[in-house]
Amino acid sequence: MPRFPAGFHWGVATSAYQIEGAVREGGRGVSIWDTFCRQPGAIRDGHTGDVATDSYHRWEQDVALLAGLGVTAYRFSIAWPRVQPDGKGPANGPGLDYYERLTDALLAAGITPVPTLYHWDLPQPIEDEGGWLERQTAQRFADYAALTAERLADRIEIWITLNEPFVVTAFGYALGMHAPGKALMLDALPTAHHQLLGHGLAAAALRAAGARQVMITNNYSPAWPASQSEADRAATRAYDILHNRMFTDPVLLGRYPDLSAFGLGGDAPGRPSGGGAPPGGGDPASGLACVRDGDLAVISAPLDGLGVNYYMPTRLSALPGSPLPFQLEPIPGYPVTAFGWPVVPAALTELLTLLGERYGSALPPVHITENGCSHDDTPAEDGTVDDQFRIGYLDGHLRALHAAITAGADVRGYFHWTLADNFEWTEGFHQRFGLVHVDHDTQARTPKASYAWYRDLIAAQRP
Ligand code: BGC
Repeated sequence: MPRFPAGFHWGVATSAYQIEGAVREGGRGVSIWDTFCRQPGAIRDGHTGDVATDSYHRWEQDVALLAGLGVTAYRFSIAWPRVQPDGKGPANGPGLDYYERLTDALLAAGITPVPTLYHWDLPQPIEDEGGWLERQTAQRFADYAALTAERLADRIEIWITLNEPFVVTAFGYALGMHAPGKALMLDALPTAHHQLLGHGLAAAALRAAGARQVMITNNYSPAWPASQSEADRAATRAYDILHNRMFTDPVLLGRYPDLSAFGLGGDAPGRPSGGGAPPGGGDPASGLACVRDGDLAVISAPLDGLGVNYYMPTRLSALPGSPLPFQLEPIPGYPVTAFGWPVVPAALTELLTLLGERYGSALPPVHITENGCSHDDTPAEDGTVDDQFRIGYLDGHLRALHAAITAGADVRGYFHWTLADNFEWTEGFHQRFGLVHVDHDTQARTPKASYAWYRDLIAAQRP
């Protein structure tokens, strides 16, 4: 493996609901995922995150695994319902105590803590008031950010506000596949703006409490047309806008992309050209009625970094007459993960090049905050797990990342998803993404071959 720049962060990433369990302990309130997991058919085999990998109790063991790996940084998430059980009001002491203990243990082990404030576990009482469809949720999120930072910003340097707001809007509110399970299609778009406003308000609150570096993490997927027909290329541009630009243009450029492909905004068919604000006010360019004067300035306050999660590209063809004018096509010719996702390392280089071209000097330093693969890792008779597939995945993606850096991308860190097999949302415990195998009956943790491979790589990269 070629050498990465000095000071490059080597890490792994996790999230609270996927690992902590202990959903009724320490004063934690109910989250939308607790509720969603109880809906019949929502999660494969009825699995839940009630226990997850029990990291709430086994955090010291997990910190020891991180130390053994030699990571320089650890991305985890803070559960809003642990800090504010109802999503508002004063902080719940035991909730913050838990993250303080974890933070102090990481620092003692020489590991930089990188918390994400929102990895999808909205307090249920906030959802009951409309969740991210409501503007007030943005302010609630900023209040929670302030309470958390007041306790921890003296020790935590790097903060991430949101994880993958695209996935929340698309899967949570447009398609209904994730919590809170709403299938509103394009009527879900206000959740995009309210999350971004929440990001901007939280970023300001974090800084006011002393946070030195603030980032947002988005999920990106290079969009490839299924053919060179104009219809497929237009479908690809439309998808690219929703997935790759909707949550980044406002943050880095201070404006929404053109949403006319979705019948919104001044240039959309049926609207007067150059058309002014939507009925009832809002943003004329995108046609989003929920945007108010001054919002985009809050959303686009300068950031210290952009978190980039990359798993795979997306291939698209046209779907005329549909509110979402595209459909996803298979990408043949590549190995696939247990999830069926194509393994395309070169698309990571492509993505970083695209971000550089698209945003130029507005692009802050990038951190790859997630990248990884699920694989059906079954322990051998002697208990070892020889996950050569994951080693190949890691090797390929790190080389692709290095190629992007060599070509000029300013990338400061790589966080592999994930430390240990965990609760994979709608797939329950069926998808294993970990460098460490977890027996979900006993919670026994067994480092896989990929853990040793990554450990050796990190050691070899040390100055
Ligand atoms: C999410 C993780 C998830 C991973 C694999 C990302 O979109 O942030 O929570 O486990 O993908 O599906």
